[in-house]
Amino acid sequence: MNIQKLIQGHKKFKDNIYKNYKQDFEALIENGQKPKVLFIGCSDSRVSPDLIFHSRPGDMFTTRNIGNFVPPYKVNDDFHGTTAVIEYAVNILKVEDIIVCGHSHCGACKALFDDNIKQDKNLSHVAKWLELGYEAKEIAKNICQGDKSKLAKTVEQESIKIQLKNILTYPMINRLVKTNKINIHGWYYDIPNGTISNYDKNKNIFKEI
Ligand SMILES: [Zn+2]
Repeated sequence: MNIQKLIQGHKKFKDNIYKNYKQDFEALIENGQKPKVLFIGCSDSRVSPDLIFHSRPGDMFTTRNIGNFVPPYKVNDDFHGTTAVIEYAVNILKVEDIIVCGHSHCGACKALFDDNIKQDKNLSHVAKWLELGYEAKEIAKNICQGDKSKLAKTVEQESIKIQLKNILTYPMINRLVKTNKINIHGWYYDIPNGTISNYDKNKNIFKEI
């Protein structure tokens, strides 16, 4: 889709679809947004949250980044985009559920195995960001033991588990999880089948929801 298609699509939205949402938007302006869910997904254009959850405006607070990574909690003077979203969602919006959603055919997980990215000066921030997937890559390599046929899915799913671990480094979230005031979920979206599987920590398996 190029930009002209987007503009045409917006016209269709404005002239036809918006009326179905008008009341929702008015209520959301009047009362403010009160999403109960924080969705952390991949920037991949095929992962389209409102489409795959059939959700409406106001339902989810959303952040997407390359690889649906969650940086471990760190206090310093840098700009922490994903961390700021998490902090706001938890402390101000008081979301009750956080979903870390990985997906099949993830370019970020594939790029973990591409050493050329590290050499490319134009991709220095991408290379740094991908470090958040290194632990998952090593675990997946160990599990697969050279079986390339299952490497992609294994690293994608292992990464979700690592991000769930990282999110618990946020002191506030750790406290809220311990007191059952917030739930964290690791979901895996399979693009060819349109299915979502939830990570069951006790059984260490992903099971379709
Ligand atoms: Zn991805």
